[in-house]
Amino acid sequence: MNSKIRAIAKRIKEYHTIVIARHVGPDPDAVASQIAFRDAIKLRYPSKEVYAVGAPVNRYKSYGALDKVDENKLIDPLLFVLDCPNIARIDGVDIKKYKEVVKIDHHPFEDKMGDLEWVDDKASSTCEMITEFLISARYKATKSIAENLYLGVIADSDRFLLSTAKTLELMAVLIKNSKLDISEVYPRLYLRPLNEVKFQSYITENLKVTPNGFASLKIDKKVIEKYKVDAGTASNLVNNFNHIEEILCWALVSYDEKLKIHKVNIRSRGPVINEVASKHNGGGHPRASGARIKNAKDIDKLFKDLDVACREYKKKQKEKSQ
Ligand code: AMP
Repeated sequence: MNSKIRAIAKRIKEYHTIVIARHVGPDPDAVASQIAFRDAIKLRYPSKEVYAVGAPVNRYKSYGALDKVDENKLIDPLLFVLDCPNIARIDGVDIKKYKEVVKIDHHPFEDKMGDLEWVDDKASSTCEMITEFLISARYKATKSIAENLYLGVIADSDRFLLSTAKTLELMAVLIKNSKLDISEVYPRLYLRPLNEVKFQSYITENLKVTPNGFASLKIDKKVIEKYKVDAGTASNLVNNFNHIEEILCWALVSYDEKLKIHKVNIRSRGPVINEVASKHNGGGHPRASGARIKNAKDIDKLFKDLDVACREYKKKQKEKSQ
């Protein structure tokens, strides 16, 4: 058992009240990891109060219910922050209200949140790390816990494309221990309505691709209405534009009416993009990043930098092959 896992298991044992948070605008890995972790702790320690918090997302209802908590009423609580490298993007909690904060994350390190942080940017997903924790610390996983963990791993690793031998070894143990039927998990992630597929065709038709291999599309509210999808659907579709010969890096922009902000989802199969995104109020992984932009005119500045990153990447690749 690694020392971080041992320390985390010790903290769980010590605290009666435990809250598990994740990042805003969550993806399957964020929600599945917090719900699986909560359920596994409850299974091991039924008398503890364990809550998974953050804004509920309709699309992820099948993962399990999230909890509503009045932070002011918690007594000496422990906070886990999952799948979130920076304090500003933690959803729905005030870290100052907790006796101790422990981070478990697979993003490159950003903010220190507490004395105990388990950050592994080689892990495919936070669900992979929670699986490692459960197996090493000898926690049990029910079928639904295992389903959530497997689902988070396949979502964040692009069905094991961005995974390691360790990811596969952990999944093998998870499947064996919990008798997980993986054929039941994939449809939960990949089955989708026809209007969404038509919307994806619209995006494909309208992507603007530069000679350097940067593709982008700003999605208008009217289009969202026409295809009867929600603004979040554009974000989810961004992963479907990989493996296109002419495209090295791509970005989709949708407008978040609630937060009054332009949400940019960026992916790459070439240049490192999180460093570019972080200059434009964004961040993330080297090849899967995002940014939130207030003024529409600033989107083009980000696009220009991403296009330059593609140009530089192409130049380097050419030099290497000569
Ligand atoms: P998304 O495109 O929303 O799936 O995000 C891809 C990755 O970028 C995830 O790891 C997010 O946590 C990260 N990310 C998205 N938006 C931001 C942002 N505004 N600031 C920092 N990281 C972000």
